[in-house]
Amino acid sequence: MCVVRDECVQEMRWCALGALLLALVLVTQACGPGRGVGRRRGPRKLTPLVFKQHVPNVSENTLTASGLTEGRIDRNNTRFRDLVPNYNQDIIFKDEEGTGADRLMTQRCKEKLNTLAISVMNQWPGVRLRVTEGWDEEGHHASDSLHYEGRAVDVTTSDRDRSKYGMLARLAVEAGFDWVYYESRAHIHCSVKSESSDAAKYGGCFAGDNIVQSSSGKILKLSELQVGEAILALDPSTNQLIYSEVILFLDWHPNQRNLFLNFELKSGRTLTLTPAHLVITGSLNSTVTVFAKTLTVGSILIIGNRDDNKFEDTIVRVTQVYRTGIYAPLTSVGTIVVNDIIVSCYAVVDSHPLAHFVFAPIRLTAEIKSYMYRLWQTYNQGLADNFSNVPKSSIQHHGIHWYAEILYKIANNFIPWRILYT
Ligand SMILES: [Zn+2]
Repeated sequence: MCVVRDECVQEMRWCALGALLLALVLVTQACGPGRGVGRRRGPRKLTPLVFKQHVPNVSENTLTASGLTEGRIDRNNTRFRDLVPNYNQDIIFKDEEGTGADRLMTQRCKEKLNTLAISVMNQWPGVRLRVTEGWDEEGHHASDSLHYEGRAVDVTTSDRDRSKYGMLARLAVEAGFDWVYYESRAHIHCSVKSESSDAAKYGGCFAGDNIVQSSSGKILKLSELQVGEAILALDPSTNQLIYSEVILFLDWHPNQRNLFLNFELKSGRTLTLTPAHLVITGSLNSTVTVFAKTLTVGSILIIGNRDDNKFEDTIVRVTQVYRTGIYAPLTSVGTIVVNDIIVSCYAVVDSHPLAHFVFAPIRLTAEIKSYMYRLWQTYNQGLADNFSNVPKSSIQHHGIHWYAEILYKIANNFIPWRILYT
């Protein structure tokens, strides 16, 4: 018991150091070029949307807007639990159905709506935000509408002054809705990405059927991989392929269904991962890390094998697929060879060195733990045997690693937009 507590204290100390390092990094980033130190920026001028305009200027179901529909939610559906009621006093809910359905929405939708409610009150004192449609369980919308998933709301102002709606739409964009549409003279339609794609935004993961090569020669699916296994990876300091230990999972969700990007390469290899994941592209001699979502047909990925041969391969097809099970192993060197393709272990922040730097404390902690465990094994073989009888998967941390979650959340709030997945 005591040992466990000591370990936690130790881990917290390292993480406090990590937070400090991160703060330093953020300060450095915030003072970077382009943002004159001490220069005060005036209030930004907001342009109202015009009738039938939508932001972003792509269709609602594209990945950079609210994404694909995931199927209707009804009261008997397990996904009904994903909907939360919104009792915000600053919002008027029309609730013409009289069922309270308009108040039900996904957490992401609720957060954006609450932000919009504040903007409306600031923009027009005495006026409040009004919701005319939220979750639809009665089939009043087009068959692929996001209203059926609690991911869309139709809004007006409480005074129903139509001359305000263009600006209301702009405020909705600013509030963070993933797609805003000046749909009708009578309302603005706003929608958000699904919760699963939002989780992916924080986690950044691979599908479970991607494979890795272990130092013992075994080929393992990511869904079978366990902490402690040494797998093929690229050592960025020497640019050589080595076996690096999996020290933890940044995300491990065997039952979560998620949207992935599937890349097919000229050689027939494939890679299935989330859009916010960092991948290595460019050329053999000059690699760069980018978000997976920026790769297109013709982009280069680097292939690596156990004989330390590296060569370029070209993407010939990109598709979106749904898979169940998401996995994000972190190796000591911060990279991983998945389906022979060299990729980063990190996501969200568009800089592999920065991500590797801020994860240093957690890597160090895991490495010390692993070292202590081996020491323990050497000196007390009998007890160690008992320990190793515990299946590693049974002690696998479920969900997003808390350190990763905190870092990604801090990063999402404070790191300049240009280096973040948006
Ligand atoms: Zn609508």
